Amino acid sequence: KKTRVGLLFGGRSGEHEVSISSARAIARALDSAENREKYDLLPFYIGKDGVWRGEEIARQVLESGTPLQSESLDRQSLWKFPPEAAEIEVWFPILHGPNGEDGTVQGLLALMQVPCVGSGVLGSAAGMDKLIMKDLFAQAGLPQVKYASVARSRVCPKLCDDLEEMLGYPCFVKPANLGSSVGIAKARSRAELEAALSSAATYDSRIIVEAGVQAREVECAVLGNDDPKASTLGEITFESDFYDYETKYTEGLAQLLIPAPVPDSVRDRIQEIAVQAFQAINGAGLARVDFFYVESTGEILLNEINTLPGFTATSMYPRLWDASGVSFPELVDRLIQLALARLTR
Ligand code: ATP
Ligand code: MG
Ligand code: MG
Ligand code: MG
Repeated sequence: KKTRVGLLFGGRSGEHEVSISSARAIARALDSAENREKYDLLPFYIGKDGVWRGEEIARQVLESGTPLQSESLDRQSLWKFPPEAAEIEVWFPILHGPNGEDGTVQGLLALMQVPCVGSGVLGSAAGMDKLIMKDLFAQAGLPQVKYASVARSRVCPKLCDDLEEMLGYPCFVKPANLGSSVGIAKARSRAELEAALSSAATYDSRIIVEAGVQAREVECAVLGNDDPKASTLGEITFESDFYDYETKYTEGLAQLLIPAPVPDSVRDRIQEIAVQAFQAINGAGLARVDFFYVESTGEILLNEINTLPGFTATSMYPRLWDASGVSFPELVDRLIQLALARLTR
C-alpha cells in the first residue's frame, strides 16, 4: 500500500515563488521510478492570501510554475481546508520564510496528528528567529560574529552610539525573522546604519545587528533526526557586495562550488559545527547551515541555520546531498521516512 504524502507549498511569504519551484522538483522526485510505487502525491497550495487550495488548483500551479492570482482575503476561507487533507499520512511542507518555515504550519500539522517532514514547532521557530538562534548557538559554545539585539521601539542616537562602539563598521542589519536576504542591509557609516535600522523595522519589531566579516561563504547540509549527518560542503561565490536577494535569485550572478575547495581540517570542523548547530535549535529531518570562512586566519564562524532550505533541482541543499551520494529522489524518500520514524519513536 502506498503512503499518501501531502506536499504543501506556496505560502504567505516573500519566498512564495521559490516554494513553487521547490515543490515542482519534489513532485517530480515522488513520481520518479524509485518512489512511484511507494508514495501517492497529493499537492496542496497555499495562496499568497494564505488560503489552502486542494489537489486541482495545486496541480495547476505545479504544472504552470506560476502563483495563482490572489483573491482578496476572506477570513472564512482561512478556516477551510480541502477535504482531501484528511487523507494525508505524512506532510511534506516546503514553505520558505515566515508562515511556513517558522513553526506556524508545523503547529497546525501537529494538531492534525500527522507526521511532518522537517523540524517541529520549536526547532522551526528557533531556527527562523536569528536572535533566538544565535543565543542558542552561543549557549552551545559555537563560534559566531558579535551581534546585538535591537527592539525597533528603542532605536535612538544613544543606541546607535553603542552599536557603533560594540560592532564597528561595516555591520549587517537584519530583521530577526526572515530569509532570502530580504530586509538585510550592510551599513558602512552612521547614516547607513540609521537607514538600515528603519528599513529592517518595516519587516520586524526585533532586529539583529552583526559585526561584518570579510569571508568566504560555505554551506553544509544536515540530514537526520537523533543522529544527524553532515554533507559535503558547498561554497558560494559572487561579484556583488554580499549575497543579497538579487544575487540569490538572478540566474548567473552566483556560482556554487561543490565540493567547497577548503582544507580537509576546515571541512571536518564545519561539518562538526553544522551538526551541533542543528542540535542546538532542536532540528529534525533537514537543515542547511551557512558559514563564514576567514581564509587569512583560518577562522570558521557559524552564520545561520535554515530549517526548510531551498529545494529546487539546482538548490544547494539537494546538490550537496547529491555530491555526498544521496540522489534527489532518494533524499525525498529519506526525509519522508525520517518524518514517519519521528512519530513512531
Ligand atoms: P537565507 O536565504 O540563507 O535564509 P538570510 O536572509 O537568512 O538568508 P543571512 O544568511 O543571515 O540571511 O545573510 C545573507 C547574506 O548576507 C550572507 O549570505 C552574507 O553574504 C551576508 N552577511 C550576513 N551577515 C553577515 C556578516 N555578519 N558579515 C558579512 N556578511 C554577512
Ligand atoms: Mg536564513
Ligand atoms: Mg532561508
Ligand atoms: Mg543564509
